[in-house]
Amino acid sequence: MVPQRTLTAGQFAVTRHLLVHGPATRQDLGDRLNLSYASMSRLARSLVDRGMASEALEPETAIGRPRQVLTAVPEARHVVGCKLTADTAYGVVCDMFGNVKATARAALPGPGADGGVPVDGAVKVIAQLTGRLARRVPAVDGIGVALGGVVADRVTVREGTFLGWRDVDLAGPITQRTGLPVIVTNDVTALAREQLWFGAGRSHATFGLITVGAGLGFGVVRDGVVVEALIDNGHLLAHAPIDPRGPRCGLGHAGCVAAYLNREDVSAAAHHPVTFGELARLGDPASTRQLDGAAHALGHLVATFAGALQTTCVVLAGEDVAALTASPAMHEAIADRLRPGPAEVQRCELDIITTPLTFTDWARGAAVAGIQNVLGGA
Ligand SMILES: [Zn+2]
Repeated sequence: MVPQRTLTAGQFAVTRHLLVHGPATRQDLGDRLNLSYASMSRLARSLVDRGMASEALEPETAIGRPRQVLTAVPEARHVVGCKLTADTAYGVVCDMFGNVKATARAALPGPGADGGVPVDGAVKVIAQLTGRLARRVPAVDGIGVALGGVVADRVTVREGTFLGWRDVDLAGPITQRTGLPVIVTNDVTALAREQLWFGAGRSHATFGLITVGAGLGFGVVRDGVVVEALIDNGHLLAHAPIDPRGPRCGLGHAGCVAAYLNREDVSAAAHHPVTFGELARLGDPASTRQLDGAAHALGHLVATFAGALQTTCVVLAGEDVAALTASPAMHEAIADRLRPGPAEVQRCELDIITTPLTFTDWARGAAVAGIQNVLGGA
């Protein structure tokens, strides 16, 4: 008989807690998850039986009897994460803690006559990449695929921004080829899932995520739950006005956030491809002015996002983010927005977490989404 791979709701809750917060006693887990001692003991035994957790007696202390400490077993599951860009599939294989065990990459087929990357070819590349990564771990239990765009039901790519895809069932054909459970997510949503378990989510139940790289992306976690699909794919924040005298975005807004921060818009205004990292390296007055303008816009964006979401925590991630946060203009814009009036007594400080990302990190986000999917929860 094929063993049941997904967990019950109770088993998932305990496993999640162990993965996110580390080893804990039965008593602690029962208190945190609001479970009776008897239920907790039953769950602990079932997780140990299934190889998901191990249990050991805490060394005896002078006071009280020794306690059972439960620890998640990292090798209990392995999942492949795959981040698709316009031309490349970046893959990682991770254990349950999201530790990267191996990486691999492969070129995607070039666009066909319709301008889109052939789906069959992309599926084949992902399956082959999974096969290569599977040789580096005992077994692969699932796949997470992340890409820029809009994804519905964790299966269908409604809009694949860089791949030229519309309404593509991506999960189905990958499962057919590999026999593994597959989750397809927007790449920023995958990062939000990763941050929820292994980053900002450890200290904040609600936080916002902004990525600045090839595109400008947004993720939202509310009360410990990742918002799977944004109502507007981030449009309202991306096109919030900053300065009516500023540069125009591709939609014709004067001085909106995207006009300053979206790589395509910034490059169009400069008449050549521009990244913020390059602007920082160049360091001439014109480049510095452009970089500071973008950092100023990012500061306003952070303030607006935090205020609308009512969180003190915003995570900034992406290939280009380090150059922007290094500019004092971002911090000045935020400080100015937070400055209280003379009669105001309430003070607010923001906890801004910066995580520069490589493509491997994006793939790891996809893997963590895959782990959550394989374990049977969100
Ligand atoms: Zn705009």
